[in-house]
Amino acid sequence: MGLHTIHNKIIPDLWDSSQKTTMKCPHCDQELHVESIDEIDSFNTPFIPYETILKCSSCTFESTSQSYALRGSIQDFDLHNITITGWSPSGSRVVSKLDHVMDFSLLKTLQKSEEIVEFLVVDNQVVRCIK
Ligand SMILES: [Zn+2]
Repeated sequence: MGLHTIHNKIIPDLWDSSQKTTMKCPHCDQELHVESIDEIDSFNTPFIPYETILKCSSCTFESTSQSYALRGSIQDFDLHNITITGWSPSGSRVVSKLDHVMDFSLLKTLQKSEEIVEFLVVDNQVVRCIK
């Protein structure tokens, strides 16, 4: 943990909801790249979490977050929370209530379609729909 490591809670804000593939450094606005993604041994979650290290391409900013993919459909949501009915990799049914930073109208569309999609969850916040 260096001087320039920002607390994990910042990370979901970096993943904006507009489905862009690049993330910007909060310090210098340059592109962030993924330094490494490592599977974390976990015995008490139904999902496989990954530790993700993000680094800035031009300054010393770096940050670590935990993420996992959650497959399911939207049961309910409001401006800040979302309830997703999903399935764990082992096939059991899981209802997850999480914070989200996603676009409200996109969530509306997804809920209406009742489609099963994959959500990216970073530090317990739903940050984007992967597919
Ligand atoms: Zn930077």
